[in-house]
Amino acid sequence: MAGIEITELHKRFPDGTVAVEKLDLSMRDGELFVMLGPSGCGKTTTLRSIAGLERQTSGDIRIGHRLVNDLPPAERDIAMVFQFYALYPHLRAKDNIAFPLRAEGTPEAEVKERVAEAARMLRLEALLERRPNQLSGGEQQRVALARALIRQPLAFLMDEPLTNLDAELRADMRTSIKHLQQRLGTTMVYVTHDQLEAMSLGDRIAILNKGRLEQVGTPLEVYNRPASLFCAGFIGSPPMNLLPVEVSEGRLRTPGGLSLVPPGGLSTRQGLVAGVRPEQLEVTTPDAGDAVPARIVSEEVLGDEIIYVVSAGGADVRVRMPPTSRFGLDAPVGLRHTGSPPPVYDATSERLV
Ligand code: ADP
Ligand code: MG
Repeated sequence: MAGIEITELHKRFPDGTVAVEKLDLSMRDGELFVMLGPSGCGKTTTLRSIAGLERQTSGDIRIGHRLVNDLPPAERDIAMVFQFYALYPHLRAKDNIAFPLRAEGTPEAEVKERVAEAARMLRLEALLERRPNQLSGGEQQRVALARALIRQPLAFLMDEPLTNLDAELRADMRTSIKHLQQRLGTTMVYVTHDQLEAMSLGDRIAILNKGRLEQVGTPLEVYNRPASLFCAGFIGSPPMNLLPVEVSEGRLRTPGGLSLVPPGGLSTRQGLVAGVRPEQLEVTTPDAGDAVPARIVSEEVLGDEIIYVVSAGGADVRVRMPPTSRFGLDAPVGLRHTGSPPPVYDATSERLV
């Protein structure tokens, strides 16, 4: 097992595209580290560089303190699982799983034992004799995972391994992967563009944007205190309301008069944006204390909650309410802030103040 250290990783493709820009990341030994970001932000390029499938333009990669810049993929001792299952079509599941061991010349008795163990972990026992075209997408991906897990490498690299599965199976596999990783205790770098997947899987999450690092933190840290407006808009469903605000006389207010719980130590200032989670706002009666006059624009009833869009002081905001709350469309209501002080950003630098 090993941690992974990336220092000033830079990747410029021959056509001039800069995919990764001076990226510093440190994955701890044994952690499930998620790289999250929109399509094209450089996740795959970073992962392929760690695996040795891509040669970085500059920067260093260390696996377990060993500098691996010049090592070919086979000598880096890591296992990678891709978005597409990449099984050998002519081999049965058991032989696909056994492939890495046989390539290393492992004795056949041990191969059988370890295939059986991997199959047990991924509930594949009944499917071992089948070829890939006799397996569903989810089953193929479990075979691909078993093939990666069988090698007991220094680290696992996963590139959106669940993207091609339907929602229910994806949730199921997510749980399996998390359990397996915890049981094996092997460092895993897991790439996804899905913030829910990142939140539910990661011990820590790195958020990438245009080849650069925006933030690293635990799921709760990035949820409660996104480091930039980009992160604020990316994490959470529905995402934060990003409201222009100003500070005067120690109060934090939108131009429309909505008062937010002020963070300590803010001096009088304009050009600010507050990030307010939908669950930290409350729709109430028009005459409630602290409330600004508002109007319900739309409602989305989701069973366990209702997401209202509320117009107040010229801005539309999203509010998450319990399913028992019912306000008529277009009815006059009040809106107030109920949570802890929101993170506040400088509108120009787009970073926390
Ligand atoms: P992600 O996995 O986050 O979607 P990638 O790492 O695949 O992002 O790509 C990052 C950027 O690099 C994108 O703009 C992509 O178009 C570009 N890119 C990826 N591979 C190549 C390549 N072989 N040649 C040129 N540009 C590439
Ligand atoms: Mg990718």
